[in-house]
Amino acid sequence: MSQSSDCIFCKIVKGEIPASVVFEDEHVMAFMDIFPIAEGHILLIPKDHYTNMLDIDLELLPHLARRLALLTRQVDKAFNVGGVMNIAANGAGAGQEIPHLHFHVIPRGRDANYGFRFPPGYREEMAPREKLESIAKKIQEAA
Ligand code: AMP
Ligand code: ZN
Repeated sequence: MSQSSDCIFCKIVKGEIPASVVFEDEHVMAFMDIFPIAEGHILLIPKDHYTNMLDIDLELLPHLARRLALLTRQVDKAFNVGGVMNIAANGAGAGQEIPHLHFHVIPRGRDANYGFRFPPGYREEMAPREKLESIAKKIQEAA
């Protein structure tokens, strides 16, 4: 296990600060978010310290992704409000506050006052195909 000494989520993994654990195995841990957006808001983390999706060990990712799906199903079944969001912010610019990879799992019904927000009017004009093609190429070239 490799933890970072000043990381709050690593401290949870080490048992140095309390958490309400929903699931734990050798590699991952899921616990209740301390400032829940909704009842049932949990966080899934790798036990080793990775900052986010930009540095996570790709070998570990299938295990994390599988657990994310299973926890999402559990939350859906337990709260049954019509939907569950999976959110991961990668980097401060994307809104990541705690630099230890975490997936939020949050129940959400249709009329909830929280969730993904897109700018007003963003569907007024479809992007030109040519532009979409060139942006797709730019992303492919970054592989
Ligand atoms: P993010 O903005 O994606 O980095 O989210 C960090 C999340 O961690 C927030 O939803 C916080 O409420 C949550 N959080 C911070 N400290 C703790 C803690 N000690 N136990 C559980 N959740 C925490
Ligand atoms: Zn950490």
